[in-house]
Amino acid sequence: MDTKIDVEALCAERGLRITEQRKVIARVISDSTDHPDVEELYKRASAVDPKISIATVYRTVRLFEEAGILDRHDFGDGRARYEASPEAHHDHLIDVETGKVIEFVDPELEALQKVIAEKLGFRLVDHRMELYGVAIDRKD
Ligand SMILES: [Zn+2]
Repeated sequence: MDTKIDVEALCAERGLRITEQRKVIARVISDSTDHPDVEELYKRASAVDPKISIATVYRTVRLFEEAGILDRHDFGDGRARYEASPEAHHDHLIDVETGKVIEFVDPELEALQKVIAEKLGFRLVDHRMELYGVAIDRKD
C-alpha cells in the first residue's frame, strides 16, 4: 500500500542473513508500489546490480516469503505476485482487462466476514479477498 515497508529492517528483525544482493532485492520490494512478479523484480533488481541472477531473486523471494516478510498473491493470471506484508490488512480488486490491481479496505466487509466465520463456528484469524472486475466507465 502507500506506506513504505522497510524489508531490509524486517530481515534483520527476523535474523535473516543479509547479503549485498538480498539488500538490493529487499530495497526493490520496499520501493514497489505495485504487485510485481519474480520476473519484474528481477528486472528492477538487475537494473541496480547486473550481477543478480533470476535464480537469486527466486530464492530470495521464497526466503522472504517463508519468513513472513512477503505476501504472495495469485490474481488469476497464473503468475505469483509479491508485496511486502502490509502492517495493516487490505484486499484487492483486479481489473481483468488491464491487470491493474486496486487495494481497498472496507470495514463493513471485514465485519461481515467475521460474522460469517462465527456463524460457521469459527473465530476468523485471516482471510483473502480478491474481486475481479471490468471498469464500468473506462476513460482510456
Ligand atoms: Zn496489495
